[in-house]
Amino acid sequence: MLNIDSLCRTRMPAARRSRGHVVAFALLIAALLCTPDTQTPAQDQKPVRPRIYIATDLEGVAGIYRWQQTRETQATNPEYQEARKLLMAEIDAVIEGCLAAGAGEIFVRDGHHGGHNAVPELMNPAAQYICGFQQGMHPLIGLDNGFDAVILLGYHAMAGTADGVLSHTKSSASGRRYFLGDREVGEIAIDALTAGHYGIPVIMVTGDEAVCRETRNFLGDDIVTVCTKTGYATEYARLVPPVLVRSALRAAAERAVRSIRSYKPCRWPTPVRGRLAFPNKKFADDYSVKSPETRRIDDLTFERVFADLINVTEF
Ligand SMILES: [Zn+2]
Repeated sequence: MLNIDSLCRTRMPAARRSRGHVVAFALLIAALLCTPDTQTPAQDQKPVRPRIYIATDLEGVAGIYRWQQTRETQATNPEYQEARKLLMAEIDAVIEGCLAAGAGEIFVRDGHHGGHNAVPELMNPAAQYICGFQQGMHPLIGLDNGFDAVILLGYHAMAGTADGVLSHTKSSASGRRYFLGDREVGEIAIDALTAGHYGIPVIMVTGDEAVCRETRNFLGDDIVTVCTKTGYATEYARLVPPVLVRSALRAAAERAVRSIRSYKPCRWPTPVRGRLAFPNKKFADDYSVKSPETRRIDDLTFERVFADLINVTEF
């Protein structure tokens, strides 16, 4: 079996390794309090005007903890309309932090539920926003090897995470679980591998405490994380006030972009065997296979071997 456990972990600089126990203690305290996390990569170098790709979701944004805020996306749902504004304010804070660190071109990918969440009036003129979705086209469209870093904003933990607020993997309604090689993966890992295909590192991830933990488990301790809430259950959480989260996002994005050269892209050797598991046969029967390479291996499970992880989002 392929051992891919450590391949994506950002290398810890020597100075941090020697004080690892201090960092671990600080992380524990930060996690307990769910104050915005303040891990800082040690290196402080930056390329000239780095290009940044910000991929967004909605469930991990501060102030959001109920499906009512994220699933019912009609114009008549005031809670969803408020959620969109909360998202825009967080995007804005991250853009400001990137600009303070000297970022050049910034793309924002509006990634939740078909990509119709951005509010045009609230778009920051320093960035370009990618909205909408087309089946058969890549969800992280526009990402190419000309970017220097990816930031994942407002993400949620993978399906089955007990303390993950609004946790799921790809579909919040069908209870899907995804596995690559010998590991279960969520959307953080899937998008980090997609960025890794282009040689681009993920430098920062934001969401609830479970997201910060999942990020560290998958990408290592040096990734900058900002914690927006602590989950007790799927729709039950202790929230960090959005105004505090925004100032943490601004500072964290600035730190991450200033340290951009200390990160390495997440790359796995291929081929990698992927599995998609459903909790019941009806959901599996209803699943429309997206590639002829995908085959059903039992009542609940589909399998596909990925020659190239750029395709991992199609599964
Ligand atoms: Zn979402």
